[in-house]
Amino acid sequence: MQVIRKTTADLRVPPHLSDYARTRANFKWSDVPNLCEGMGPGGCNIGYACLDRQASGPAADRVALRFIGDGSTTAELNAHDMSYRELAQCASRFTNVLRSLGIGKGDRIFTIMGRAPELYITMMGALRNGTVVSPLFAAFGPEPIATRVNIAEPVALVTTAAIYQRKIAKIRDQLPSVRHVILVDQDAAPGDAAGTVNYRQLMAGVDDDAPIEPTTATDPALLHFTSGTTGTPKGAIHVHGALSMHYITGLYALDLHADDVYWCTADPGWVTGTSYGVIAPLLHGVTAVVDEAEFDAERWYRILADESVTVWYTAPTAIRMLIKAGAELAQRYEFPALRFIASVGEPLNPEAVWWGKKVLGLPIHDNWWQTETGGIMIANTPAFDIKPGSMGRPLPGVDAYVVRHAENGRLTVIEEPDVEGELALKPGWPSMFRGYLHQEDRYQKCFADGLYLTGDLVKRDADGYFWFVGRADDVIKSAGHLIGPFEVESALTDHPAVAEAAVIGKPDPTVGEIVKAFVTVKDGFTADDDLRLELLAHARKRLGAAVAPKEIEFADALPHTRSGKIMRRLLRARELGLPQGDTSTVETDTPIRETSA
Ligand code: ATP
Ligand code: MG
Repeated sequence: MQVIRKTTADLRVPPHLSDYARTRANFKWSDVPNLCEGMGPGGCNIGYACLDRQASGPAADRVALRFIGDGSTTAELNAHDMSYRELAQCASRFTNVLRSLGIGKGDRIFTIMGRAPELYITMMGALRNGTVVSPLFAAFGPEPIATRVNIAEPVALVTTAAIYQRKIAKIRDQLPSVRHVILVDQDAAPGDAAGTVNYRQLMAGVDDDAPIEPTTATDPALLHFTSGTTGTPKGAIHVHGALSMHYITGLYALDLHADDVYWCTADPGWVTGTSYGVIAPLLHGVTAVVDEAEFDAERWYRILADESVTVWYTAPTAIRMLIKAGAELAQRYEFPALRFIASVGEPLNPEAVWWGKKVLGLPIHDNWWQTETGGIMIANTPAFDIKPGSMGRPLPGVDAYVVRHAENGRLTVIEEPDVEGELALKPGWPSMFRGYLHQEDRYQKCFADGLYLTGDLVKRDADGYFWFVGRADDVIKSAGHLIGPFEVESALTDHPAVAEAAVIGKPDPTVGEIVKAFVTVKDGFTADDDLRLELLAHARKRLGAAVAPKEIEFADALPHTRSGKIMRRLLRARELGLPQGDTSTVETDTPIRETSA
């Protein structure tokens, strides 16, 4: 395996994490600076730390959020800036709007809209009010919205007139908890949306003097639904104290410096888009770019270039789409400002890490975490060598173990390197989820012997780097071997014709399961029998006969969650003719785009 060695020449600015062993050894959560000092003893609020604090400090007039308009995909990038001061004022106003509606601490609200300024104002205003926010992805249809609303029982929905009319009006009588629907569009006609209130009017009717609700680190702040990759999405409860984690990982994993222009491509409807698209950049006083439009390869390269993005946080699925679009497109742009690229959400194939280095001039740094962990736990960071295919090492403050389940229900910690087991974490990091809403049993099942069990299988090598093997549910048992889909998929994507690959276990009377791969091919290649034979041979050469796929099926596209993850459980269910289970998060072929205002 070829390691990407880092030297000081790779670092444009001195990294926050430069001595891994020493920083980890000396790290204590209690030493993290108190970003809510101004709230008085015990006070802790994400909205305060992100906005009130910044608006009264040196970042006040810096651009907090730069919105890139949702025009046609390659139209002029109409940017609209909001400074920290402006965002803080708007958020305070919205705190008063909630108070004027009788919505207070502990109440829950949902946002269901695209990445428009009102989304960020609403979230921050609600957090300041002690109101729990659950950001939902705007493209959800009526059924997934109803399911989530009825789990969380919010008192209000904040959405657009278009979304309301298309998806919510018809199910409104099935949402008994919802007392208010706030439409953010300026010209939402009340006649078209009976039973709603108008955001602009409400905002005009209050002032921006809104003392912060006295919340503490253990008060709930956010409710995030998981991606639904392995089953019905769960609602993970997060607290205000999580901000210490967002701050520390903003330093160590993303290496944010005050003058950065930072772009996290995730939608706040997923935990990444909230923790790292909103909270971490605001805590660090950087400028965060928000693209209101959906993925488009050319548009993304333009944003990286025109906005002089310095730190970019994206996902494997987006990188695969950029790879598919071809290197020539990237070569039309230059990215002299870009100094760090990170990725999360799915395993990042080594080929993608190298592609970054070749095409963008920087390798891509994989990191690992989950909705439940609330923040980045294991990461490749700027100063350290990358082993492509590894998700890096646990950050300071994070204790990660590889464990085996013993017969008696106890856990054994695996000390030897390179042995597969479940990834387990020692509770104690501040952004750890505090429950699955209304599913206490399921929450309790995540813990054993004082450790949190992640449901992911990994290996740790002798240097302490962690390697993703697969989700426990996705691992294939074939002729006595345990085969992790990631290794097989990486071997396939390493072939120049392959755009994406997903591997499942297909029941077989002789060996238990055989490895079957679903493959999409890059533009310019033909999916025919010759290519199939070539890929089978390529995989056998790379992986050996026991692990290589026995069957390859070409597909035009693979099923993804709306957050971009490949859904192997759907491929398996379709292959076996079984019910597909919860499909509320499956990406439709043509994602619906919503705009507000
Ligand atoms: P659900 O729990 O509803 O099935 P989900 O697990 O996909 O959905 P998320 O919390 O959004 O929901 O995703 C976290 C999971 O994504 C991790 O447990 C892991 O399986 C996968 N993941 C995230 N980052 C990485 C990574 N860098 N490498 C490999 N897998 C990753
Ligand atoms: Mg999960």
